[in-house]
Amino acid sequence: MSNIPYKIYLEENELPKDWYNVRADMKKKPAPILNPATLKPVTVDELSHIFCHELALQELNDTDAYIPIPDEIREFYKMYRPSPLVRAYFLEKKLGTPAHIYYKFEGNNTSGSHKLNSAIAQAYYAKKQGLKGVTTETGAGQWGTALSMACAYFDLACHVYMVKVSYEQKPFRREVMRTFGASVTPSPSMDTEIGRKINAEFPGTNGSLGCAISEAVEAATSKEGYRYVLGSVLSQVLLHQSVIGLETKAALDKYGIKADTIIGCAGGGSNLGGLISPFVGEMLRGEADYDIIAVEPASCPSLTRGKYAYDFCDTGKVCPLAKMYTLGSGFMPSANHAGGLRYHGMSSVVSELYDQGLLSARAVEQTSVFEAAEMFSRVEGILPAPESSHAIRVAIDEALKCKETGEEKNIVFGLTGTGYFDMVAYQKFNDGDMSDYIPSDAELEKSLSQLPQV
Ligand SMILES: *Cc1c(COP(=O)(O)O)cnc(C)c1O
Repeated sequence: MSNIPYKIYLEENELPKDWYNVRADMKKKPAPILNPATLKPVTVDELSHIFCHELALQELNDTDAYIPIPDEIREFYKMYRPSPLVRAYFLEKKLGTPAHIYYKFEGNNTSGSHKLNSAIAQAYYAKKQGLKGVTTETGAGQWGTALSMACAYFDLACHVYMVKVSYEQKPFRREVMRTFGASVTPSPSMDTEIGRKINAEFPGTNGSLGCAISEAVEAATSKEGYRYVLGSVLSQVLLHQSVIGLETKAALDKYGIKADTIIGCAGGGSNLGGLISPFVGEMLRGEADYDIIAVEPASCPSLTRGKYAYDFCDTGKVCPLAKMYTLGSGFMPSANHAGGLRYHGMSSVVSELYDQGLLSARAVEQTSVFEAAEMFSRVEGILPAPESSHAIRVAIDEALKCKETGEEKNIVFGLTGTGYFDMVAYQKFNDGDMSDYIPSDAELEKSLSQLPQV
């Protein structure tokens, strides 16, 4: 082993004091989000009906590069941060690669993923504004869990609309949220107008993320003292997640390591955006160059096969419109897709960076993702989330390329969470029941034909 430790830890006092807002360094900014009624850029006032005021300001702030992390949030971060940057010595050995592989592990907290980094920030601003509580949606359950932890910490009510199929298939996720004090409702429910409408139109539906978002927004905007919060896609979430990239960069700098390749999985784009932000900032300022790869599922390929256009963020079309790489808000990944990352669109910041050629994208099939997860778990001792395993897949592929060329590249990837609540997916894989589904061009054309005319 070299002089680089297995785990590079930062000290508590090295925890970042500011979040980094990559939009400030972008010459061409992401397109503004639009009011769905007027199709004009939304104002802070309009956004403040949906989001906490401070978060509305952050959402529209594309000029301040550094935004101080309030002390109360840093105190909470200290419970589980700085998170380790791990040198994957055992994986390197297994692959027989000359590449050096590092991963930033965000699964070291009870919620099990990076989502807590933004959940605690959003709960803090809600509390500071004197709100009673927040509403949100959750698909697989990671975001709902993170938010319920954050709300428990600040003594806020937390109402989670959980996609019905997950609510039924993941009862233990639901119980974790309830233990932290959240109320959890299967979506579509009969509590909201949009839920009743969807139930009437599609009796027995399993629900979808887009529908749960609409329900949560309706619940927040129709109740006094509540706001809606979202765990991915938004620019404010990428901002909070920049803590991942800032720590990663600080840890690499400590040992004089220059990353060559940086890899992250991409669902709505928040962990990827957070991980790459400081590095992309250097690229934008002409200080350094990196090979950045976003990895998405072949069954929900928004960057590699989507269109860069304005689209709805939710099924009910109540949220602002965002310009993003999208498959169309009506797109539903195939039922056999078990690997997470199933949102139809991509963060407008990540979309714009991709459009400018600052990162590339790769789509991978889920059986190959679980093969990578299995290999990783056996040598590195961490059971990864299926979402995170998309990044593992491409990190392994890149390391194997180095084996052929003999290059000693430094490969860094984001390991966003643990897979303990995804055992049904692992069971499918272990039983040989997992298959791959790639949507046809005709299928994608169908949902893309529904894009709004903006
Ligand atoms: C939610 C989630 C993701 C995907 O969300 P992004 O916003 O794309 O980061 C990835 N990994 C884990 C473990 C998650 O919970």
